[in-house]
Amino acid sequence: MNVVVIGSGYVGLVTGCCLAEAGNNVVCVDHDVKKVNALTGGTLPFYEPELEAILDEQIQGGRLTFTTSIRHAMGKANVVFLAVGTPPNSDGSANLHNLLDCAKTLGQAIPDDCVVVVKSTVPVGTCERIRRILNNATEIGRHTQRISIASNPEFLAEGRAVQDFRDPDRIVIGADDPHAFSVLSDLYAPFNLDGNRLILMDIRSAEFAKYACNSMLAARISMINELSGLAGALSADINAICRVLKGDARIGGSYLHPGVGYGGSCLPKDLSALIDLAQTVDEPADMLRSIQKVNLDQRERLFHAIRTHFNDKLRGKTIGVWGLSFKPGTDDVRAAPSLSLISSLVQAGAIVRAYDPVAEHAAQKALGDMQVHYSPCAMDVCANADALAVMTEWEEFGHPDFKEVAHQMRGNMIFDARGLYQSETLQRYGLEHYVLGQNKFG
Ligand code: NAD
Repeated sequence: MNVVVIGSGYVGLVTGCCLAEAGNNVVCVDHDVKKVNALTGGTLPFYEPELEAILDEQIQGGRLTFTTSIRHAMGKANVVFLAVGTPPNSDGSANLHNLLDCAKTLGQAIPDDCVVVVKSTVPVGTCERIRRILNNATEIGRHTQRISIASNPEFLAEGRAVQDFRDPDRIVIGADDPHAFSVLSDLYAPFNLDGNRLILMDIRSAEFAKYACNSMLAARISMINELSGLAGALSADINAICRVLKGDARIGGSYLHPGVGYGGSCLPKDLSALIDLAQTVDEPADMLRSIQKVNLDQRERLFHAIRTHFNDKLRGKTIGVWGLSFKPGTDDVRAAPSLSLISSLVQAGAIVRAYDPVAEHAAQKALGDMQVHYSPCAMDVCANADALAVMTEWEEFGHPDFKEVAHQMRGNMIFDARGLYQSETLQRYGLEHYVLGQNKFG
């Protein structure tokens, strides 16, 4: 098929690359000229395992090209994906500005029988808005044509996006006409490995399904964090309790790891957008609000613990930070807990030394002119540090040389925001261990 993907970020680029790999002719569009130039030259503008090899192979094979122009890209497209960002507005609602702009341009260029697929995460009712925009544009610009529109939310996770796209748990297609269902079922056939992965539904349900999933995941994270805090206060061992929870088939084992809470480009913004959507239909969304509050409190707890450890005197203290990305496997720092911690520390007068295997550049961009000393390696961060905060569970932080860490540091406190270490192990090297929810000053 001829496929156009508008928006070449984490989602759009993975979609474009994997669909080209499956034998389609794909044109990826982005309004960022630098990004398009880099991609045309085979360079990834962000870190995502396995993606660069596919990008290279598909460009060489002539199945994948890049452009900044939606009009040029459209040609004889059978399917066009909208995969641009939908970041949060200041009131928490989803910012649809870019998406709706693309729809306006698309309306002038869309060929007959092309299926418009919304892959971005969007509030319920957005596909209907896009259909109206497209209908208006095609009526004004040319002849009237029937617009086939579908919602196809994406569930890939950064850091394993290629794997998730090639072998998805499920593929959700929301549409209201047989043409859209048929074209998308064919397009996704190579990824519907056992024939059981397609879930077909109406458009509004598909739009909602993405928010439902992210709310569930966020709920598990906030729940385990709340239980962890409670367990700590009651002198119970959350790790032992987690083993019991994970052993219950009704509960399942994933997303039950206490830590500093969720971040990233999806869970925080999607929770906010769903809460905003709830307001429009006068639904209280009490659970969603609590999930969000627990998550923000968790970040506060960590900073509070560090401040308390230094008797409210952080000025001039050197704090090392291991990990900047919101999770391992990605350079994405959007809404990362590390960045809010660093901001709080710098505001309190601390000197911050930070290291991340791939996210330094993204963090520098996000933190702007904030004074942070970036280190070339993990151990360099520890030099003369009064404390170390471990913010991302990158593999290389899992089993560090604690003897050397202790030797390099001036202080001896390790703030383990991801629950990576055993206190007994750290004690052997004279290091103190703080785990959220489990220590007295947490
Ligand atoms: P991103 O910010 O990485 O990429 C968006 C891309 O769209 C950028 O390259 C940007 O330059 C481009 N763009 C913006 N406006 C444009 C326009 N008018 N014309 C052309 N290009 C334009 O975003 P992302 O992380 O890929 O997310 C995209 C959507 O997918 C969002 O709605 C997000 O919620 C959803 N989603 C993201 C993930 C994830 O893990 N990142 C997972 C599932 C769903």
